[in-house]
Amino acid sequence: MSGQSGARVFAIANQKGGVGKTTTSINLAACLANAGRRTLVIDLDPQSNTTTGLGVDAHRVGLSVYELLVNEGVTVDEVIKRDIRPNLSLLPAKVDLYAADIELVYLDQREYRMRRILDGLKQDYDFVLIDCPPSLGLLTVNALTASDGVILPLQCEYFALEGMQQLLNTIRLVRDRLNPKVYLFGVVLTMYDPRTRLAGEVVEEITQHFPQEKFQSLIPRNVRLSEAPSFGLTILEHDSRSPGALAYRQLAEEVIERAATIGTEGAHA
Ligand code: ADP
Ligand code: MG
Repeated sequence: MSGQSGARVFAIANQKGGVGKTTTSINLAACLANAGRRTLVIDLDPQSNTTTGLGVDAHRVGLSVYELLVNEGVTVDEVIKRDIRPNLSLLPAKVDLYAADIELVYLDQREYRMRRILDGLKQDYDFVLIDCPPSLGLLTVNALTASDGVILPLQCEYFALEGMQQLLNTIRLVRDRLNPKVYLFGVVLTMYDPRTRLAGEVVEEITQHFPQEKFQSLIPRNVRLSEAPSFGLTILEHDSRSPGALAYRQLAEEVIERAATIGTEGAHA
């Protein structure tokens, strides 16, 4: 990552639940770290699945991203779990983050809190991935305000694009008012099942909608991916030869390649 000062920051966002945000946050981060990129994952979902999925007990994290966001006195050093794997660090969540969407409303600079946290951290990393909650509230707005781009996971099913306009509007709103650089960096298709005709049709439809943004890598429906978090393992640790591991490795390569073009002319769709 020569010639670049500070991390590329991506929000993994879709207000629909169950589309693969958390699975992508954990495993894309693991593959970026495995490729030698210093990577930070931020769990911004009160469900804390990214925290748990990486083997960190969300009931015992102590201070979490919640305190960091709402409490001026709390420092990153008190919250961050450094090097939970080689090249991989975590800002963990726990269930009290549910309160943040409401508490933030009353705070000064409420949309800029995550950005300010990252200002002091970006120099230490090549990539930061923010796992967003399934809503477009202030937590997601904080993530978008702090990000270079959005990675949008879409599940290969009918209605995959339903609700998409709201998310695109939110990105536009944040770009207009809070963070002029944020844009839709990439669309990743998840839970792809090559045996069904439907999957092929969905891929085609999404390719038409997002010709620039869609990543080539398709994340297959793979039981190894759904098992791994219950052991607190990434897919590379649980089954490094599985189709899911292969797909997330390929996605990481695409992200690294595409991220290198940010800021160069023509990168923004
Ligand atoms: P989100 O964070 O968007 O709510 P998750 O990543 O938690 O979505 O995924 C929802 C569920 O689907 C989880 O149980 C997860 O293990 C499972 N899952 C996600 N991606 C895959 C996949 N590619 N293959 C099989 N199961 C998957
Ligand atoms: Mg999730």
